[in-house]
Amino acid sequence: MVKLMNIYENTVEVKKEEKVKGYVHSTESFGAVDGPGIRYVAFLQGCRMRCMYCHNPDTWNIGVGTEMTSEEILDDAERYRAFWGPQGGITLSGGESLVQIDFTLDIFKKAKERNISTCLDTAGNPFTWKEPFFSKFEELMRYTDISLVDIKEIDPIKHKKLTGVDNKNIFEMIQYMGENHDDMWIRHVLVPGKTDFDEDLEKLSDYIAQIPNDVVKKVEILPYHTLGVRKYHEMKIPYKLEGIEPPTAERVKNAEKILKTSNYNLYKNWRPKII
Ligand code: SF4
Repeated sequence: MVKLMNIYENTVEVKKEEKVKGYVHSTESFGAVDGPGIRYVAFLQGCRMRCMYCHNPDTWNIGVGTEMTSEEILDDAERYRAFWGPQGGITLSGGESLVQIDFTLDIFKKAKERNISTCLDTAGNPFTWKEPFFSKFEELMRYTDISLVDIKEIDPIKHKKLTGVDNKNIFEMIQYMGENHDDMWIRHVLVPGKTDFDEDLEKLSDYIAQIPNDVVKKVEILPYHTLGVRKYHEMKIPYKLEGIEPPTAERVKNAEKILKTSNYNLYKNWRPKII
């Protein structure tokens, strides 16, 4: 509630504060793979990318899903606080968490007021230097403890074929985050014939190595899987990777070796920042 003094009539008006609402696809109480520690994960609705291997095509549509306020999400999340430990907290995922940046920002601001650790899962596509987005993103980073950044493919042509969008702005976002000392955990989904090329992995490795300020706390290879195919059939969307099998254990090891994943260990002692 906000109290406004009307100096001419000497009365006190009480106005109800507008609560920020957004669209949520689903939530998960005990996420163990969505950032450091055990985390409550809210999957926000909406994504403009169309990754061929996306296992959640039901999160793509924008402006649908369950309408929730930031308070509702945080109240629900706090029921699991006892399980979080020193690293855990909440993760906003998707879909693409930056599609609803006003909502994401409001949740993280209020989470930090409650001393909850915040993790942003993003593939970076909405990033732009243009306003009003950039100022909101800048502010969001102040309330974000760590970001899970999905790098789909370093080669711009292959990236466009795989996801339907360019990757230039995604790398601009990563560079900005490095220069701004924003912690991140990089993930790359390994798909045979689409993202598993030694020369691209080498380039990605070099790219990650030059990200400034030791902000890369972990680098992870996620082997492609086919668990989402059923959803495509149910939604009558053509599945473009029909017939492609998950990568072999050797190819996963090869990618981990090229990306030097074992060198990125800082996540082990990582702690959320105190604001
Ligand atoms: S960015 Fe994520 S949610 Fe969006 S299409 Fe790709 S995998 Fe799916």
